[in-house]
Amino acid sequence: SREVCPEPSQVELAPGVVIGGAELIVMAGPCSVESEEQIVFTAQAVKRAGARVLRGGAFKPRTSPYSFQGMEEEGLKLLDLARQETGLPIVTEVVNPRDVELVARYADILQVGARNVQNFALLKMLGQLDKPVLLKRGMATTIQEYLMSAEYILSEGNRRVVLCERGIRTFETATRNTLDISAVPVLKEQTHLPVVIDPSHATGHAQLVPSMCYAGVAAGCDGLIVEVHPTPETAASDGPQSLRPAEFADMMLKLKRFAEVA
Ligand code: PEP
Ligand code: MN
Repeated sequence: SREVCPEPSQVELAPGVVIGGAELIVMAGPCSVESEEQIVFTAQAVKRAGARVLRGGAFKPRTSPYSFQGMEEEGLKLLDLARQETGLPIVTEVVNPRDVELVARYADILQVGARNVQNFALLKMLGQLDKPVLLKRGMATTIQEYLMSAEYILSEGNRRVVLCERGIRTFETATRNTLDISAVPVLKEQTHLPVVIDPSHATGHAQLVPSMCYAGVAAGCDGLIVEVHPTPETAASDGPQSLRPAEFADMMLKLKRFAEVA
């Protein structure tokens, strides 16, 4: 908390990539890794536009067990290839505690998904790693509960935790979730940890993503995580909320008017 650590923490995500300082750190890439061509092409496009981290899911926590579950280790290998091609560090989700070691071998940053925010066994394991963790807020997690989840990682000794507001459940159905924009200043006030927003999962609609990114920056977030896909209509997951590379580049240009981005 701020009482223990009054100054905002700067978290090194990878050599030369620090979140929580002056630069707005943009993480971007597809929901799921689907092929070498898809991930390398997307990585190059988001890098050109100013993203500092490549996102991509290899283990996918899907609502339905019949939906695409991810390429698993093959997907991690393709992320590694995209990192070699672009130099971008990788953030990818670990769903199951038994896969922590495997995912940590490939990832620069390990993501905990909304559905696992209170998987305390997973959080404790991540607390023992020497890798940064992107901890997503659950869709029905209060800020107090969310901060206790972050404590599960911190109390095991891992200080490199980044918080992520990704939308919460409300009565509203026009959007997939409701971006709790006020969570940004509340989290910034109550903790020293960097805060990012995920407007893709929060809104569920690509056309709403840019305005929520600008809103997040205005609210004081330290970074953004955005889904980008070369052909959203054929995406294996979350196509409707994925920006095309050109749309992402356009948004990044607009962001440069009021934020320090690469
Ligand atoms: C994701 O980032 O692809 C994802 C599954 O997000 P969330 O856990 O926020 O639903
Ligand atoms: Mn997704």
